[in-house]
Amino acid sequence: MDTTPFDFDGLREECGVFGVFGHPETIQLISLGLFALQHRGQEGAGIVTFDGETPHPHRGHGLVSDVFQPEKTKDLRGSLGIGHVRYSTSGNNSTSDDAYRNLQPLFLETAFGGLAVAHNGNLTNSDSIRKRLLDEGKGFISTVDTEVILQLIAASKESTLVEKVKDALSQITGSYSLIIMTKDMMIGVRDPFGFRPLKHGELNGATIFSSETCALDSIGAKFVDEVAPGEMLIVTKDGVTVDDLPQKGKVPISGCVFEHIYFARPDSLIDSKTDFHAVRIKMGQQLAKEVIQAGGIHLDYAASVPDSGIPAAYGFSEESGVKYQTFFIRNHYVGRTFIAPDQINREKKVRMKFNPRRIFKGESFMLIDDSMVRGTTSKIIVAMAREADLGEVHMGLSSPMIKHPCHFGIDTPDELGLIAHNMSHEEMVKFLGVDSLTFLSLPGLVKAIGGNGHCTSCFTGDYPVGSLGK
Ligand code: 5GP
Ligand code: MG
Repeated sequence: MDTTPFDFDGLREECGVFGVFGHPETIQLISLGLFALQHRGQEGAGIVTFDGETPHPHRGHGLVSDVFQPEKTKDLRGSLGIGHVRYSTSGNNSTSDDAYRNLQPLFLETAFGGLAVAHNGNLTNSDSIRKRLLDEGKGFISTVDTEVILQLIAASKESTLVEKVKDALSQITGSYSLIIMTKDMMIGVRDPFGFRPLKHGELNGATIFSSETCALDSIGAKFVDEVAPGEMLIVTKDGVTVDDLPQKGKVPISGCVFEHIYFARPDSLIDSKTDFHAVRIKMGQQLAKEVIQAGGIHLDYAASVPDSGIPAAYGFSEESGVKYQTFFIRNHYVGRTFIAPDQINREKKVRMKFNPRRIFKGESFMLIDDSMVRGTTSKIIVAMAREADLGEVHMGLSSPMIKHPCHFGIDTPDELGLIAHNMSHEEMVKFLGVDSLTFLSLPGLVKAIGGNGHCTSCFTGDYPVGSLGK
């Protein structure tokens, strides 16, 4: 579904979470943190702070800068809070009043007080749990999968919050990076597969949770470590303790490769020595190696499809010795548009976003993008390159062919929407109108990322066992 006019291509970001425990400027810090995580979801944003016994929730559709206007947030007091930016992967994702209740964080009054949850991920067995709870006579306040976590915690017979959370999560399959909050406790926890990220930071004695380190930087917090897959970080006024989910270590670590390829902001750290920009340069270098191994192509220039193709094109150029050139210029004001989405076709949308420089007549170019999903962007990009009278137009992708849908929080089209599922390599070459087409190999991608421990099911169809309730 076209939620924003320019969000028709690619995959979809899948939410960002941010939490602060123990800081007098909680609302300001969460606003800034979510602003830095805006790329992970533009559909809506929200926050819940706790001020002693009193929760202060605020949520809305749109961008963080719209939702977090000072006059709307000035009364959100408290020294702890959690926030969320949403791209819906489940539940109603329109901007209707009905969809409002699906904005996160979700908040529920329980027998042990107020409970708030912010979730990044996608649960694969939430429908059956929801049905079971409804059959038992429970009610739901939203249609989003995340609510089953809240309801299971609220209904757990265990005596402490930590045990209740473990009990709830033991019933759940799929992907989750969660920040859970009561009036005096915050828990950051990741599913044992580690599909989605969650980082732990520190600012003047306050504990911070964030999907990515770029948001820690934006508030001046120190990056302490990632929350490990299957690990729980429990924060109270007495400090931070670590506990493990019983499933920890019993399943293969399966971090999402697409965080590396596209989603995460390039300046976010993977560890203290590597950020995502560096990994994407390596993907481009690897792509160059593979093009050369396959016999090489005569090229005058390597150019990116900006912004996401820039580091790979740079790496390609470095490795191959082919000169890096800026070919497409991107209009940075596209986003929300003044034209209704259904009045403007995809081609016009791509043309509003990119325009080629028209001074390279007869030159041979390698155009590099990070990924091909439906093939829409590539097809129009290539047509524009032809109009600019290039000599040869080659296309390189710094990821393999996406042939399978994601079940873990990324909103891929179903198989039939994926160009690489529907067409052979030869058919794609024809359809796109390129002189050659090279996808980075899976071993090449894994080599660039460094090591295993990643979910590559969108390329292989091999879903981590257990995560789908198998
Ligand atoms: P396609 O046009 O083939 O469906 O999508 C490929 C393009 O979408 C590439 O330019 C890629 O950079 C971009 N892309 C990949 N993932 C995402 C995403 O999550 N959101 C948006 N807006 N674009 C994406
Ligand atoms: Mg792109």
